[in-house]
Amino acid sequence: MAESGGIGGFLKKIFLVDFLEGMRLTLKYDLAMAMPGKPKDLYTEQYPKDRPPVAERYRGAPRLNINPDSGETLCIGCDLCALACPEHLIVVTTERDEKTRRKVLTTFTYDISRCMFCGLCEDACPVDCLELTQDFELASYTREGTIWDRQMLEEGPRPTRYTH
Ligand code: SF4
Ligand code: SF4
Repeated sequence: MAESGGIGGFLKKIFLVDFLEGMRLTLKYDLAMAMPGKPKDLYTEQYPKDRPPVAERYRGAPRLNINPDSGETLCIGCDLCALACPEHLIVVTTERDEKTRRKVLTTFTYDISRCMFCGLCEDACPVDCLELTQDFELASYTREGTIWDRQMLEEGPRPTRYTH
């Protein structure tokens, strides 16, 4: 049986052809990066200093919208979002206002660790209260931190802003 690569492969090994080809490519890209007009496909995002734009239809952090004039929640406690969620991760509790006979929201919890951001809850909300925003910074140091309560959902997460 003939030796793999034959005499050509042997000479390539002796003269380090593959190694030199790799060095040539590395040098080519290094020099290209140093030029004023860098190639378009080479860039480094300076996150978190510069926050990258996300797609228009991106679904991220949930938010419970409030009436900007009165500051009251738009949520009517209908529970439709919880029923629509395939993961059953939303829990809504309400109490009945004896005067108006209306339901009043008492607590709202949303476990983002189990959420797949499908948007079914958002679609089910009849009053555009529950919304999946474009905020993508959802990390937490604890498991408990992934369960957002009503206040967190209304005010939004407060991620640490690193400057360098
Ligand atoms: S986005 Fe989907 S998985 Fe997440 S809470 Fe809404 S319905 Fe449930
Ligand atoms: S569907 Fe909308 S109004 Fe109904 S409980 Fe959920 S967030 Fe509130």
